Amino acid sequence: MLVIVLGPLIAFLIRFVSARFRRYSRRIQDSMGDVTRLTEEVITGQRVVKIFGGHEYENQRFETVNERNRYLNVKLAATNAGSSPVVQLIAGIGIAAIIYLATSGAVLHTITVGSFVSFLSAMLLLMAPLKHLTQVTAPLQKGIAAGHSIFELLDSDSEDAGGPFAIERARGDIEYRGVRFAYDPAKGDVLAGVSCRAEAGQTLALVGHSGSGKTTLANLLPRFYDPREGAVLLDGRDLREYRLSDLRRQIALVSQDVTLFDDTLASNIAYGVMGDVDRAQIEAAAEAAHAMEFIRALPDGLDTLVGDRGLLLSGGQRQRVAIARALLKNAPILILDEATSALDTASERHIQQALEELMRGRTTLVIAHRLSTVEKADSIVVLDRGRVIETGTHHSLLEANGVYAGLYRMQFREPEAVGAYVPPAP
Ligand code: ADP
Repeated sequence: MLVIVLGPLIAFLIRFVSARFRRYSRRIQDSMGDVTRLTEEVITGQRVVKIFGGHEYENQRFETVNERNRYLNVKLAATNAGSSPVVQLIAGIGIAAIIYLATSGAVLHTITVGSFVSFLSAMLLLMAPLKHLTQVTAPLQKGIAAGHSIFELLDSDSEDAGGPFAIERARGDIEYRGVRFAYDPAKGDVLAGVSCRAEAGQTLALVGHSGSGKTTLANLLPRFYDPREGAVLLDGRDLREYRLSDLRRQIALVSQDVTLFDDTLASNIAYGVMGDVDRAQIEAAAEAAHAMEFIRALPDGLDTLVGDRGLLLSGGQRQRVAIARALLKNAPILILDEATSALDTASERHIQQALEELMRGRTTLVIAHRLSTVEKADSIVVLDRGRVIETGTHHSLLEANGVYAGLYRMQFREPEAVGAYVPPAP
């Protein structure tokens, strides 16, 4: 009876320990994530940390997350170390009680030495499995906690494959029809009913203050997001009807922060089409993008490794590699996010020439920061807080003397007209 009474007590204890294990394992996973995230942030942002003297601040931030991680690990280790002795103590108390009862007068007469010893050794043999039972809970609960976060990721919806409509090469007519979109519905629409269009081969320049929704509008085209209302059409057909892989094959992208992979220049230029193009085509694209000029000067030419995140190359050179990549893809549609920062005049001229080469014969959606781009655009859309407030060409908009004319004076022509920032007194 004593043994039976002790059973539930031990079961309760193991249950309690298990719950604790799982709780701490989950928290340790989160805190370990914080530690690695912070470390990566500081290492990649080390130049900012050094120049702005952020050592102390970063040290403190690291200390906080690291201390929490240490504290949780100690808690887990303490639970682990404590559980097995406690179970053994309970079992030990049981055995002691049995020995005490068995040797007391009343029981002594009814039990033989043989049955007493066999009962006792059976109980002692139970101790080892009991100890093991508490030891399996630790890895088991850790595994359950880890499995939880893995399955959360695996169970999230993957990007759908798009509609059934296959397409080899689109003509390139783009139309936004009453597009509404919000990242977070609670925060209101980022795009509030945008309509505009660009016919095949035309250039549509998006202009507006920062935060007006230009990037968001461009991101709808490769279906990084879908509009909440309205539709985006390619060649008169809703984007959602196209197969996603086919749709994205129609689009090339040149953005201001060029992503280069730690690989050779040739592989970076032929990214995504490496098997389908030969060396001569890669070279021709690099030539047309005015990139061959600097690539030739490198010791290994096109086989030069660009290093982690392309750090070997200057900003202007990276842009030209990105243009070569887009040229090689030869897609009918181009999304161009112009660099805001001015480059030196030589690079600037090269890039401008390379871009003109790239834009020829393609429908181009350009987030424009340069005067030369907006002047040449077939149509300009002026966005303000997610609405189209003006549409037209450079000249018609200047004549109308509205928002664009103001932006033009402020943003594109007279930088000194922008109010100068006065730093706070030290
Ligand atoms: P622009 O390119 O004209 O500077 P954006 O399209 O980048 O403007 O941003 C428009 C608005 O959407 C801004 O208010 C911005 O804060 C918000 N926004 C942009 N990207 C995201 C995102 N990934 N998640 C939530 N809000 C975003």
